[in-house]
Amino acid sequence: MKVLVIGGGGREHAIVWALAKSARVSEIVCAPGNAGIAQSARCVPVNTGDLAAMLRVVEAEGPALTVVGPELPLSLGLVDELERRGLRVFGPTQAATRLESSKSFAKEFMQRHRIPTAAYAVCRSLEDLRRELPRFAASVVVKADGLAAGKGVVICNSHAEAEKAAAEIFSGALLGTAEKELVLEEFLDGEELSFFALCDGKHAVALAAAQDHKRIGEGDTGPNTGGMGAYTADGLMSAGLEQWLLQNVAQRVVDEMAREGSPFQGILFCGMMMAAQPDGSTRPMVLEFNTRFGDPETEAILVRLESDIVDLFDAAIDGTADRLVIRMKPGASVCVIAASGGYPGKVVNGQPISGLDSVDEADAVVFHAGTAAKEGAIVTAGGRVLAVTAVSSASTSTTPLQNALGKAYDAFEKISFNGMQLRRDIAWRALRKGL
Ligand code: AMP
Repeated sequence: MKVLVIGGGGREHAIVWALAKSARVSEIVCAPGNAGIAQSARCVPVNTGDLAAMLRVVEAEGPALTVVGPELPLSLGLVDELERRGLRVFGPTQAATRLESSKSFAKEFMQRHRIPTAAYAVCRSLEDLRRELPRFAASVVVKADGLAAGKGVVICNSHAEAEKAAAEIFSGALLGTAEKELVLEEFLDGEELSFFALCDGKHAVALAAAQDHKRIGEGDTGPNTGGMGAYTADGLMSAGLEQWLLQNVAQRVVDEMAREGSPFQGILFCGMMMAAQPDGSTRPMVLEFNTRFGDPETEAILVRLESDIVDLFDAAIDGTADRLVIRMKPGASVCVIAASGGYPGKVVNGQPISGLDSVDEADAVVFHAGTAAKEGAIVTAGGRVLAVTAVSSASTSTTPLQNALGKAYDAFEKISFNGMQLRRDIAWRALRKGL
């Protein structure tokens, strides 16, 4: 069958890589793709912010299945349009995507359905914010309502800082466009965990747990980024916690979205905080939902996937996820991002990347995030450039996680480009716990 993937980052490269292993797939097209994806799929240019242009690509290509990677096309209603035309598509509708595209919708939904989350207030003006602030402790979080590619969340240590952040969100100084709504939220202290469920409108099944590193600096310091690395490991989440998250978060989302008339089909990413409680225990609370594969967690998850990825997509579309058995390689996996100099600020594109061909895929898979082909060479084209991903099922002298980390970092002995930044401490929390 012919499959079309919408998107052009590391996540989409990992999806294309998994599709290329499927015996059921004969042709892969990716729009717009990137220089790495072009090695295993035909890439066609498209602006993923232009709904009509994406529909033209689907019409011209006539795929048996379309897989939508990024949040923007989902929020524009690409899935709705394809379903209306009777076409097979993996991903949630525009209404179901509100769980990600509107933080106020997500918070109100969670409150309506008793899904544990931080205390919050939706504010539409600075006056609203000033009225609500006295209910909150000094540490608060201010979040722009809409999609902001990780840049719309400001963690504040005082109410004065919260007012400043809110003023910047309302004026457009923070995101470039003025927001009409924000969410003010209680600050939660604890360790974060990402839980991924595959959903078919009726059922949610557990796919994997991962941890990512959003900050640019080692030790999780400095400004937020799109993600500097991620990892998965057996034991990262106990079977009990997985069951709890499935029942009390993912399945409840699926049940209640269906009851509210917006069935959820696709990947539900639950960004959890294992919030520290005064008695020393932890309580899982939802920080955010994403309605698609996360990036860079997807790279780390898909290198462990042994099942045919098309079977996952089919089950989600056909409502048969409850009968699906998802097989994953045992062990651990790691994804280390190589970013351009200056990221997450302004970057200079067009830096030639050397050593890409010297990494053996048996050791590490070099997924491309922001790359382009120029005069026969591969050059940088974006903030996050490469997602170097390694998996390990067993190792004699180290844990699988340590082994996977070794393989990913070894690849960086060979790969380089001008200004390359990477974090050398991916998975430090898990290593400290002996994983
Ligand atoms: P979000 O997009 O809502 O997940 O926020 C991005 C990041 O901000 C999260 O991954 C957390 O690191 C941090 N964050 C968001 N909300 C909170 C909160 N209520 N308490 C502490 N940290 C938060």
